[in-house]
Amino acid sequence: MRQVINFNPGPAVLPQSVLQQAAAAVLDLDGAGMSVLEISHRARAFEAIYEAAHEDLLQLMGLDAGTYSVLFLGGGASLQFFSVPRNLLPPDGVAAYVDTGVWSQKAVEQARRVGRAEVVGSSASEKYARLPEVSPIPAAAAYLHITTNNTIEGTQFHQTPETGAVPLVADMSSDFLATDRDFTRFALMYAGAQKNIGPAGVTIVVIRRSLLDACREDVPEMLSYRVHEKARSVYNTPPVFGVYVVGLVCRWIMEQGGVAGVAAANRRKAELVYGALDAHPDVYEPTVTVPAHRSLVNITFRLRDSFRESEFLDGARERHMVGLRGHRAVGGFRASMYNAFEEAWAERFADYLHAFARL
Ligand SMILES: *Cc1c(COP(=O)(O)O)cnc(C)c1O
Repeated sequence: MRQVINFNPGPAVLPQSVLQQAAAAVLDLDGAGMSVLEISHRARAFEAIYEAAHEDLLQLMGLDAGTYSVLFLGGGASLQFFSVPRNLLPPDGVAAYVDTGVWSQKAVEQARRVGRAEVVGSSASEKYARLPEVSPIPAAAAYLHITTNNTIEGTQFHQTPETGAVPLVADMSSDFLATDRDFTRFALMYAGAQKNIGPAGVTIVVIRRSLLDACREDVPEMLSYRVHEKARSVYNTPPVFGVYVVGLVCRWIMEQGGVAGVAAANRRKAELVYGALDAHPDVYEPTVTVPAHRSLVNITFRLRDSFRESEFLDGARERHMVGLRGHRAVGGFRASMYNAFEEAWAERFADYLHAFARL
């Protein structure tokens, strides 16, 4: 049994059964006489891992392999901040961005190294404590970029913005396969694996094949979606172990009833914790000002009495709860409760929130 209740924002908790399978495969991959760390990325064994992960991911997302492709890349979501505009933004074009926090700001900055990026909605003036209104998107925009879940600020898009004919691109790093969405609405989705679906080191890009055809020709190979897609993610050595663990997590999500199953569990966990915070408005202040914009997976809050912060953390530590300190940009506390965060832990945390409020 686990000794610690892990609220880490990423890398984050993984399912215990996945860790056990991964641990066994580190010693011997399915009786191959080799560790998963020792196989060639060009061997049949990796091809099988890649094919299963590719197929299972698309199935979980309700996407069809004829229409979408999945890439397993290195470099983190942060590299995608540059790769997306480098592939999709023509030299004389414009891209539209919704600015919802630290990560989307970084995405805008990188896009501006490539070309024109217009911010069509920003809640910067409200310290990102809510989602902004999105103004009309330029019809000629190469794409609209959103951050579906704002890991640091604790907001989340529960509705997908309408973009008409403009392709929708999303950084889904912190709610990938954690929230039930109509993924067919998106032309490109990317996510670092280390929040919901695997270890650090592998980044998933799901791209509509028609968008692949529209990518720029002049992209350096290592950044080119077309090059990676054509090479089936082995243009160079991919993060083999990461892809393997993502495949195991996909299987685990299927056992939980698919994305709908984990999303429902995430909703129950979030309701428990927000319920406890809202029950003591004199003690806790959720940092997100519009309840409909609250994230289900990163719950951010402060204490009304900031002098009690270390007391709160000490009490949490006594209960084996770790990783609760808020990001330095927001302060206060953040409870990150991704897919593998157990429901019983959310109950224990809600109990603690009530108990602390009554002290
Ligand atoms: C964590 C995170 C990132 C950065 O991911 P890296 O893999 O460290 O580059 C980007 N966007 C969002 C929304 C995140 O949560």
